[in-house]
Amino acid sequence: MSLKISEEEFKKILESGKRVDGRAFTELRPINIRLGIVERAEGSCLFEMGHTKVLCVVRGPTECVPAYIADPERAVLDVAYRMCTFSTEERKSPTPSRREVELSKVIREALEPSILLEEFPRMMIKVYCLVLQADAGTRTASINAASLALAQAGIPLRDLVTSVAVGYCYGNIVVDVCSIEDELCADIPIAMLPAYRKITLLQSDHRLPIDRLSEILSTAIKAIDQIYELQKKALKEYYLSSTKTGD
Ligand code: UDP
Repeated sequence: MSLKISEEEFKKILESGKRVDGRAFTELRPINIRLGIVERAEGSCLFEMGHTKVLCVVRGPTECVPAYIADPERAVLDVAYRMCTFSTEERKSPTPSRREVELSKVIREALEPSILLEEFPRMMIKVYCLVLQADAGTRTASINAASLALAQAGIPLRDLVTSVAVGYCYGNIVVDVCSIEDELCADIPIAMLPAYRKITLLQSDHRLPIDRLSEILSTAIKAIDQIYELQKKALKEYYLSSTKTGD
């Protein structure tokens, strides 16, 4: 997972038309989805994208705690993103970092437009995103997992939210970055309500060429459409199997 590579070697691999992990530029990492694995929770989803593994758990709608943050018009969506101490190469401190606080907000804002929060005034919906193993794309995997866990919890949704990070690496656009690419390239996490073609997250801390922006977006959207199909398939399979077992 922590393949150390020089920038020169990294560029050479890209010039040969491949990526550090052997994928094609627009190829996603293998995705594995499991729903309903935490039986005490209303919704839960384990979402794996390559070596990145995130468990999301949904509780609610429940009474809003603390009561003073209750909104008389809509439910409060509370998102907590945390990385386990064992999820990274170097032990992650158990103290919540500024990054975890920021990503909790980013994930909440990506999910909010999909949820009919107005159906649950004064209530709270809690989403816990626990990163079990990190190899880049933990916020995007969290969004994909959280949306599925919300659907499994029976929370009314306008659509699922689907997310992927694309990278801009020395002139090449790559899909679903791994951690080496995350370090050496500009990464652009994107989330979308695929059925509405509505973008709910678009981030980048890097300078990008404006003339490549529409290509970056269309590449991301193609990947999002592929992940969306896998999300719908996982939901369908979950409901078909729980109808059989009477869960
Ligand atoms: N990372 C790490 N320790 C940290 C934060 C991040 O090892 O405290 C690694 C981890 O592999 C993570 C990657 O850096 O997935 C990229 O982090 P970033 O902040 O870009 O968020 P992400 O891509 O996971 O959404």
